[in-house]
Amino acid sequence: MSNTTSPEPSFRDSVDIMFNRAVALMDMPLGLAEKIRVCNATYTVRFGVRLRGEIKTFTGYRAVHSEHMEPVKGGIRYALGVNQDEVEALAALMTYKCALVDAPYGGSKGGLRIDPREYEEHELEQITRRFAYELIKRDLIHPSQNVPAPDMGTGEREMAWIADQYQRMNTTDINARACVTGKPVNGGGIQGRTEATGRGVQYALQEFFRHPEDIKAAGLSGKLDDKAIIVQGLGNVGYHAAKFLCEEDGARIVGVIERDGAVSCASGLDIEALKEWIAENNGVKGFPGADYTADGASMLEASCDILIPAALEGVINRENAGRVQARLIVEAANGPVTAGADAILLSKGVVIIPDMYANAGGVTVSYFEWVKNLSHIRFGRMERRREESRNKSIVDELERLSSDKGISWQLTPNFKEKYLKGASELELVRSGLDDTMRGAYNDMAEVWRARSDVPDMRTAAYLVSIGKVAGAYQAKGL
Ligand code: GLU
Repeated sequence: MSNTTSPEPSFRDSVDIMFNRAVALMDMPLGLAEKIRVCNATYTVRFGVRLRGEIKTFTGYRAVHSEHMEPVKGGIRYALGVNQDEVEALAALMTYKCALVDAPYGGSKGGLRIDPREYEEHELEQITRRFAYELIKRDLIHPSQNVPAPDMGTGEREMAWIADQYQRMNTTDINARACVTGKPVNGGGIQGRTEATGRGVQYALQEFFRHPEDIKAAGLSGKLDDKAIIVQGLGNVGYHAAKFLCEEDGARIVGVIERDGAVSCASGLDIEALKEWIAENNGVKGFPGADYTADGASMLEASCDILIPAALEGVINRENAGRVQARLIVEAANGPVTAGADAILLSKGVVIIPDMYANAGGVTVSYFEWVKNLSHIRFGRMERRREESRNKSIVDELERLSSDKGISWQLTPNFKEKYLKGASELELVRSGLDDTMRGAYNDMAEVWRARSDVPDMRTAAYLVSIGKVAGAYQAKGL
């Protein structure tokens, strides 16, 4: 493992350093800490697929970090940079993330070394099914053992192929659909899963801004509305976070960084329009009404209140951390701030809402989807109309009382409309996610505020989650 004097720790080393920082503050047997830290197993597979008249060989991984709870959970990413070190770091983060938000899983992660943009849809389907086949036959995709989900470069389309592949290989498994989450809604998915990680980032920020002492600690003041935000990466996570924060909370997205550079606009960018522009033009360059720079990374250092890295790991590192101007960093990506950068930002008083909490919305809604699949019924199906009829009887009774007694007040039509409507699946998912994000924030922030030896929210988050994982191992007698 690298120490803090090496040039820049690898992603895997960064996670270990952060873990060790927390363990040093805990009263835990060192052997148990080591057991939790290590990645239990990593499976590497190389398989060939006949494409365009020749056989192409692909390399994929599925790392299982901790099996203190099963199934283990975590996404599958498609990217050229995928390697064993990365999937193991990401699998470890999944363990801590699931523990923090009380999703009853161990941590896992998978990846395929591929640039998905180089392939046609039918080719990607062939590759995905073949990769899934390799993992399914080793129970590395299984409703009660290992449940993947989307990550960078994958989405509901790939999850639908994986689910179908599992079903073909397990024709009598009634719980087959629970073998993967993030499926399309008409393929066993759940409303609100696609937006979930971005929605979770929004709920995390809303909760942060409910705590004046935390706002002050970051050197900020006031509310979320009108805060200047820079977002790195307008993929699924960054796009939804940016969209909700400006459309619903009144924040201004003053800069967006993408592959080909960055655009900025002090009065706030129109995220929907920008998203469409990127789809049509393959980048942000030329987006009307905004300033463009080809040096995207420089935008990480631009003036703003909040910086949301929602793309790759390691983008804020020892080299640029000293120049970051944001007061608050929300880690929508996994591992965007290296352990080296962490220390620099801490000395500048920058507050970081850590990845294992900030991007936990995805796995939280994955958990709801898995429960839905196992219970074979949509959330709210039994109680929705019952709730509506009970609400209606209250409203009818209030109206009868007011007219009988000649009371002059009237229920506003808007209130009636809202109150009479039973919750849809999407509303229930959002409510469950909001509740989870508020609860986990407070578990983490209370430790941060209460302990003078806990310097930042990341260490606090590790303390809470390692404590839960240790408790699970100890309950088993380890
Ligand atoms: N890939 C996402 C993450 O890193 C989601 C994982 C899941 O839903 O299992 O948290």
